[in-house]
Amino acid sequence: MTTPRVSKLTTLDDWLELRSRTTVPEAMWVDGAWDQAGGRTLPLVSPRDGTVVANVASADVEDVDRAVRGARRTFEQGVWSSLEPRERGEVLLRWAELLDAHRDELALLLALEMGKPVNVGWNVELRTAINTIRWYGELVDKLYDESPRGRNGALALVTREPLGVVGAITPWNFPMTLAMFKIPAALATGNSVVVKPATQTPLSLLRAAELSAQAGLPPGALQIVTGSGSVVGAALARHPDVATLTFTGSTEVGKKLLTYAGESNAKPVSLELGGKSPNIVFPDAPDLDQAAEVAAWAVSFNSGQMCTAGSRLVVHEDIRDDFVARVVKHLEAHVIGDPLDPATTMGPLAYAGHRDDVVDEIRKGIAAGTALVMGSDEKRDDGLYVSPAVFIDVDPDSRLAQHEIFGPVLSVLTFSTEEEAIAIANNSDYGLGSAIWTADLSRAHRLSRRIEAGMVWVNCYEEGDSSVPFGGQKLSGHGADRSVHGLEKYTSLKTTWINIEGAS
Ligand code: NAD
Repeated sequence: MTTPRVSKLTTLDDWLELRSRTTVPEAMWVDGAWDQAGGRTLPLVSPRDGTVVANVASADVEDVDRAVRGARRTFEQGVWSSLEPRERGEVLLRWAELLDAHRDELALLLALEMGKPVNVGWNVELRTAINTIRWYGELVDKLYDESPRGRNGALALVTREPLGVVGAITPWNFPMTLAMFKIPAALATGNSVVVKPATQTPLSLLRAAELSAQAGLPPGALQIVTGSGSVVGAALARHPDVATLTFTGSTEVGKKLLTYAGESNAKPVSLELGGKSPNIVFPDAPDLDQAAEVAAWAVSFNSGQMCTAGSRLVVHEDIRDDFVARVVKHLEAHVIGDPLDPATTMGPLAYAGHRDDVVDEIRKGIAAGTALVMGSDEKRDDGLYVSPAVFIDVDPDSRLAQHEIFGPVLSVLTFSTEEEAIAIANNSDYGLGSAIWTADLSRAHRLSRRIEAGMVWVNCYEEGDSSVPFGGQKLSGHGADRSVHGLEKYTSLKTTWINIEGAS
């Protein structure tokens, strides 16, 4: 077994020293160079300490248009789109190596922009992002077109072709991983990509884009436009030369994008949206303590700012009290603090407005009379931290059971029969993740078929791999990222018929 690579920076002082010599990117990345977007800027306030860490370029509609036209020009020139697939793969693999070599710096930028603990950024977020680029880099020259049997006297070819310019709009909770669920797949198939990162988290991706040029990606193949969602995101979504839009973010914004697409060039839109994932625990779970540890992790990892958060714990009534006590014990083990300290397991929430919203949801839950067994609705005065909160006896129709809070807030619901567990699990507008803890294989299969979710985990949570699709159903979206299927939305199918009987 190989030992996993770890950062050589092991103390807070090591990370502070790196901070002192790191320049934070502030301009957009357009046509292979830094671009000031006319000098307009937006301050980026770090959730770590409330200081302004960057004044990031704030694009307007013309800047977005310029970036899209540059991307389209690069596509038409064929300097990327017409390379041999193997050559595109080699560039992606070099890019992955460069990102790996700059992992400390990128983990630092993630910690500064959204408060992600450096160890989580280094070991989880960046590992996944880099592995995804490698996976598509290695895949791209191993894809085949089709030649169906068709009819006698004719040859049918089914080929997949790049679309041109892909618009990608991404959220702040995993700024690198979620962008890399999209960018390498779109690039591997020959497209140019224009990315609009979340307003709060452009820094890591800007640095990654700069490194893509060193890897040999031609100017214009990857553009990063920064600024507000309502201006920059909307301009990208409405642009007539953007051939397809791929989005990860809230259901509310996802619905707007469908409207923008309809009002412009009817571009296809793939959506990875919110969730309220049920984590169902039966008394025969193989290891209840492991299930409790994972349940605690599922609602508190990344400070609960996870689309797939297991925010609804659906537990059998016979084990409820014991199980919840174990979950609370595991949640109490978190080390909450400075994201630059490698000992920290839970950092602040990503920005003040979001912290306020999460605390407000806890307050509403208490006001509705729901019992809180851990946590509080008091704002902490030492930063944007929110300690985990656990509500029990949650009404399945209540706001606590229905609304995506996107923070470390667990709603515990109980069931007595399998039918009841399924009904509670499916009583949601969302359908992203779900988990079932049971030793009964037949039951696991039965539930897996009936639960309305894009992903079902049995006796585990958040398993994932580049080779396996990631995506949801219902209001959690459609059009999965990752895997070979993740390429489909970046290509169009073309059929060509060739008469092989001679001229007729
Ligand atoms: P958000 O929808 O507010 O923002 C996402 C992106 O959309 C940002 O880049 C933002 O600037 C942009 N945007 C905002 N308004 C826009 C507009 N009118 N037009 C175009 N673009 C616009 O989401 P967020 O707060 O950044 O992220 C949290 C949400 O993302 C949660 O709902 C979470 O569940 C979801 N999410 C889903 C997945 C998934 O894979 N299903 C993964 C992570 C996050």
